[in-house]
Order: sequence, then C-alpha cells, then structure tokens
Amino acid sequence: MKRLSALHFLLSLYFLAAVSTFSELATAQVLPNAQLPEPPSPPPGFIPPPLNPNGVQLETRQLGEGVYALLSNRPFADNAGFVVGNDAVLVIDSHFNGVMGQQIIDAVRAVTDLPIRYLLNTNAFGDHVFGNYVFPSSTKIVAYQGTIDALLVSSVAGIARTMRGTVGGDMSVFDGVELRVPDIGFDKFWSVDLGGKVVEMHWFGPSMSPNDSVVYLPGERIAWTANLIFGAGTIPWARSGGVAAYHSTLTKMAATIAPTTIVSGHGAITDGEAVTHYLSYLENVLKSATHAVENGESAESFYASAAVDANLTITPDLRQLMTGFHRWNLKAAYAESKRAQEVQTEQSGFQK
Ligand SMILES: [Zn+2]
Repeated sequence: MKRLSALHFLLSLYFLAAVSTFSELATAQVLPNAQLPEPPSPPPGFIPPPLNPNGVQLETRQLGEGVYALLSNRPFADNAGFVVGNDAVLVIDSHFNGVMGQQIIDAVRAVTDLPIRYLLNTNAFGDHVFGNYVFPSSTKIVAYQGTIDALLVSSVAGIARTMRGTVGGDMSVFDGVELRVPDIGFDKFWSVDLGGKVVEMHWFGPSMSPNDSVVYLPGERIAWTANLIFGAGTIPWARSGGVAAYHSTLTKMAATIAPTTIVSGHGAITDGEAVTHYLSYLENVLKSATHAVENGESAESFYASAAVDANLTITPDLRQLMTGFHRWNLKAAYAESKRAQEVQTEQSGFQK
C-alpha cells in the first residue's frame, strides 16, 4: 500500500464525503449563498457580517500603475477595485446597490475617461453584484459560470431576504436594485489584456460559497480574493459548510498564483502570507474536529463556546464576528469528520 501522510489520508476521506454530498446536491436547486440545500444554522454567539452600505465611502488607493483598490471606510463593508490599461478599464465587483455602483463609476471617472469594458463579479451575493445594473450596457459583466447559474434562479427579493441580517434589517438598501446577470461565464479561468495590463480571473473550487472567484494581476502579483480570503486579522468562514473543500481550494490557489498583495472583498489589505495562514487555520480545524469525533466528544461541547486560538492575530473590531465564524467552521468540520468516519467504516466493511 502506498504510504500517505496522515493529513493526506484525512483529506482524501473528507473529499470522499464531500463528493457524495455534492452528487446528492447536483439535482437540488442552485442557491446563490449555499452549497447545501439548508445552510447550517448559526452557532451560539454568531453575528452576521455587518455589510450595510449606507454611508459607506470607498477610498481609492493606488497599488501600482493603473491598479486601484476601492476600500470601504467601515471594517467589513465591501471593497472593490479597478484596473486601467492602455485601451480600457476593468472593474472588480459592483458593490451593494446602485448608489454604491455609481460611487465606483465615479471613482473610475476621477482617474480616467477610458471605457469600462469589463466588470467582474466574484460571487453571487448581493453585496458583490447588486450594483451591476448602473453600469452601461457596453460594459460586459464576467463571472464564474456557477455564479451566473445561481443568479439565474435568484431574485433581488430572494437574495435580499437571505442578506437581511447583514444590513441590520434595513431593507431600504435594496431599493431600486435590478438584478443584472453577467454576460460572460467561464469555467475555471478567464483572462483579458486591457492594453499592457493582463487581468486573470480564476475559480479554484468552493470556499466561503460555491462560487468564490479570484481576480489576479500576474504582472503586479496583486489579487482580489473577495470572500475566499478576508482582510488582515481574519479567519475564513466556511459558510457553505465545506471545510475540507475550502482547504483544497486554497491549496490549488497557492499552487497556481503567487500574490504579494491581497485586496479582500471585506477587511483591510493584506499580503500573500494570508494564504498560508488560512491553510494552516483550516488544517487545525479539520484535525481538531477529527480528534473530537474520535474521542466521542459531542458537537455542542466542541464548538458552542470555542474561542479563536490566542496565537492568531484577530483585528479587535472583528473579534466577535471572527468568533462566530470560528464556531461555524468547527461545527461544519465536526459534521464532515463524522461523515468521513462513516465513509471509513463503510470502506473497511467492504474490505472484510
Ligand atoms: Zn462578500
């Protein structure tokens, strides 16, 4: 028998469990926000990410020649960005509504008169796509095909309902929003040359949602990671419940691109080390979940009052939010570990 490291063995078991969950879901309705038909219920102490765009100001920060981050002045409200080539402009995410979408267009216009030829949507959540409709029809919107499929079976009202908690119940933020579905879908990779400026878009696999995509500038080694990697001082949120899948997605990302600067969809700009931190965090979550399951610890006692490891740097403003994410991840990993254990039992049954 081939010798596998304990972790690889563990991950392959998780993978088997994830694949079987996936195939069960293949026929289920494609939901924008979840990979599971019923998203996991929140653990104790969980608060929804605070994303209300009212009063949010986007600061334009130049990261390189023709490369700009648009950074929210509130800790977790959405960031965006744009890239200016010799021929055209490309925008990354359209933010929460028409007001915010217009703020992005105005920020571009403060820098250049070149046409906004592309707008990239990094996932199917309202806070990343609900500003789409204020961009001119000459702007082509590009997204991972899964994002498009999710949006095609969604409505503004439906997405707004699932995002209610993130805006503190203030449904007025959705006023006037029209759902504009992207024009161009890609499977794993899309790229464009804006004239001396190459922009890539990747889908590495499911992570926070099934559709999270990464925008990468290979020349500048700058990435927009949307919900896949949040900003400085954060941990991931395996919202769709696939902790092992999240880990393999990040592994693929680390093997494909090498960003030195990361603009997250939420939170402060960070560096390439964030990928390593996220990977080791998820590895630890998976290991401790396996340990808990093996020792017969109850799910509740494993996650309900857990705190983020004191060795991890967490932005003080985001501590409560990250504690909720952490417990969510533990809960999901416990369920996956349980399922992996069952798969293992079934397999050893076959071998007898
Ligand atoms: Zn987001």
